[in-house]
Order: sequence, then structure tokens, then C-alpha cells
Amino acid sequence: MKIVCVGRNYTAHIAELQNEKPEHPVLFLKPDTTILQKNQPFFIPHFTEDVHYEVEVLIKIKKLGKYIQPEFAHKYYSQIGLGIDFTARTVQNELKAKGLPWEKAKAFDGSTLIGEWYNKKDFESIENLSFSLEKNGEKVQEGSTANMLWKIDELIAYCSQYFTLKIGDVLFTGTPSGVGAVSIEDHLVGYLEGNQAFSVKIK
Ligand code: ZN
Repeated sequence: MKIVCVGRNYTAHIAELQNEKPEHPVLFLKPDTTILQKNQPFFIPHFTEDVHYEVEVLIKIKKLGKYIQPEFAHKYYSQIGLGIDFTARTVQNELKAKGLPWEKAKAFDGSTLIGEWYNKKDFESIENLSFSLEKNGEKVQEGSTANMLWKIDELIAYCSQYFTLKIGDVLFTGTPSGVGAVSIEDHLVGYLEGNQAFSVKIK
């Protein structure tokens, strides 16, 4: 399976990283070797000390699809989750400045945290899901899918113009503002509509 990530999908986060508002969704991929094993701590990698959390709403693809039309995109998923796209920010900034690909900053082992999955039918509207991230008991990120620049169905349609989506692929839909660095011994807990979706220790 692959992980398809969307960058710059919330206006306030674009402003905090001083990025330009894109014309189209920014896409990048992470291989399945990035997935952090369940209930394992996140280890800050040897090549950097500057790792940021990015809490994001996740979609699990349940049907093979290519050139999916937005109006049919809802047929391609029934599970929604929450996760973290861990990012080696200094490394990413250096790569960005040189116009180089981001993989060393985004696709290192352990950089993808996937929390619990929920049935989309359990929620009233997936276009108005609230989610948040707490670090050591303090809320550091808060968002709502209502504030996405591109909605979930639009993202699925757009991604499928470039990449065939396969059963089990996971879409990371972008992070809201409030991204920040992690330190050893930090404890991160994510909530989706009040449900605790994950809990992870930083080592
Ligand atoms: Zn991200």
C-alpha cells in the first residue's frame, strides 16, 4: 500500500510556513515502510533534532480507482481516521530551498502514524469533523474539515488523476495550523470528534 499526502490544505497553516497558496493540491507519497507500528513510540531519527508533528484526517481507500469523478469519490472509502505526518522540518526547508524532493524529510522510517479507524457513517457530516492534537495534555493543534481548501472528495478525484488508488491506500488530507517540534518524553494524543484516535510517546 502507499500513503498519499496532501500539503497546504488549510489557509492558516500555509501562512505559518510562509508558503504560497497553491493553485492545485500539493501531493507527495510516503512508502509503507514509514508506518509506525501500533503502540510503539516515535523515535527522533539520527539525522535531525527538528521533527514536527502534523495532525491530519485520514481516509482509507476501499476500491481500486483511476480518474475518479468527484461525485463518485464517496464510493471509494468508508473509513476515516486521524494520524500524524511527522516531518523533519529543517531538512524539509533545506530541500525546499534547493527545489529538491522532500523524501528525506517526510518518508523516513516511523514518520507515519495511523490511529484508529472509524466508520464514516458514525459521523453526521464528514465535511464538518473537528479534530485536535494534545502535547503533554495541552492542545497544540485544532482543526475542522470544514476549513479544508479542497474537500475530501475533491482530493480523491485529484489524486486519482495521477496515481491509481488501490484498496488499503491511505490519504493524509493536510494539517491545520499549530505545527511544532517534538522533544524526547513528549506525549501526543489525537482526537477525532471527541474520540481518542491515538496516543504516542516521543523517544
Ligand atoms: Zn502533512
